[in-house]
Amino acid sequence: MSNETTTSRSPAAEAVDGRILPALTSLQDADLTGWLSRRGHPRYRTDQIRRWIVERRAGSFSDMTDLPRELRTDLEQAFRFSTLGIVSHQTARDRTEKLLLQCADGELVESVLMRDPGRRTVCISTQVGCAMGCVFCASGLQGLRRSLAASEIIDQVLALNRLLEEDERITNVVVMGIGEPLANYDALLDTLTFLTSRFGLGARRITVSTVGLPARMRQFASLKRPYNLAVSLHAPTDALRTQIVPVNRGTGIQDILAAADRYFYETGRRVTYEYVLLRGVNDLPVHARQLADLLSGRNAHVNLIPMNRVTELTLAAPDHQATDRFRSVLQRRGIPVTVRKRRGADIDAACGQLRLSRTPARNAASAGR
Ligand code: SAH
Repeated sequence: MSNETTTSRSPAAEAVDGRILPALTSLQDADLTGWLSRRGHPRYRTDQIRRWIVERRAGSFSDMTDLPRELRTDLEQAFRFSTLGIVSHQTARDRTEKLLLQCADGELVESVLMRDPGRRTVCISTQVGCAMGCVFCASGLQGLRRSLAASEIIDQVLALNRLLEEDERITNVVVMGIGEPLANYDALLDTLTFLTSRFGLGARRITVSTVGLPARMRQFASLKRPYNLAVSLHAPTDALRTQIVPVNRGTGIQDILAAADRYFYETGRRVTYEYVLLRGVNDLPVHARQLADLLSGRNAHVNLIPMNRVTELTLAAPDHQATDRFRSVLQRRGIPVTVRKRRGADIDAACGQLRLSRTPARNAASAGR
């Protein structure tokens, strides 16, 4: 049983005199301090406001009760507190929570909060829809609408942060929601900078998942920062990979592996290879042996993901025996391998189930628009 709650608050839709205000989360500290000092406010207000946003999980400017009332009103007039309004909020049986969020231009994205003992992971989206067209994924079914701004990616984390209980905190971020993060590179980097500097997360707690864009992977490697990189491989040969991950036509597995090796070399972080298991397509022992040939001798970890159901598609996950068989072939060859736990499937929050919604949930009309 999943339950759904909705709110009628849509801060993203609020505009003053028809103008769309700058997003609070898009401001650098220096900009905010400058804005404050032009109005005669001391510089420590910047820290105060930042603390309200991150640690104290304010839901609006009016929550910032230790700021002078005029300042709160000024802030409201000048900035959007959040670029995103909540259209719907669902909770799964396993306590995974999913938000459907609306941008100021009406576009919709989804983001997920997952709970494990001692760990709270948020999964965020970087684009509205996706251009990659992987044949097993719901996110790309309707193509790409647009990339998200950094503030729209950051505001997903903040919206999920506000769902936590007082004694919980976000420990991990996975950039594995809708979209291809490396195809929205600048906004991705701004988001990562926010998370590691202002939000206080270590780079090792952040994972970026890519379909495998070698030039961007090399650029990402050159940062020499210990973010985790996950590469969606899904097939051991180019012929098969091109069938299920169409962008492979322009790249090829060898170039992707070379870029991933470079990532390991530059950052010291072991690369994870994601492999969605599709029944009868890429799940046979021969595929496992070919995958082992590709990865042996590399500092790699394989994460097998039995395909999650997507209503429009006939592709399906293998049964448990086939999954186990695939895993043991890799294990026997000494390749570290795990099978990803399915999360929030009853609310379509599992990997590959997040999607571009064009017909907002029934309540969008009441979301203040
Ligand atoms: N574009 C990025 C990140 C988004 S997808 C990428 O391709 O990695 C995050 C992971 O979920 C990817 O490994 C993706 O291939 C996988 N995925 C997509 N559809 C899926 C499905 N139906 N079942 C299981 N995993 C899926």
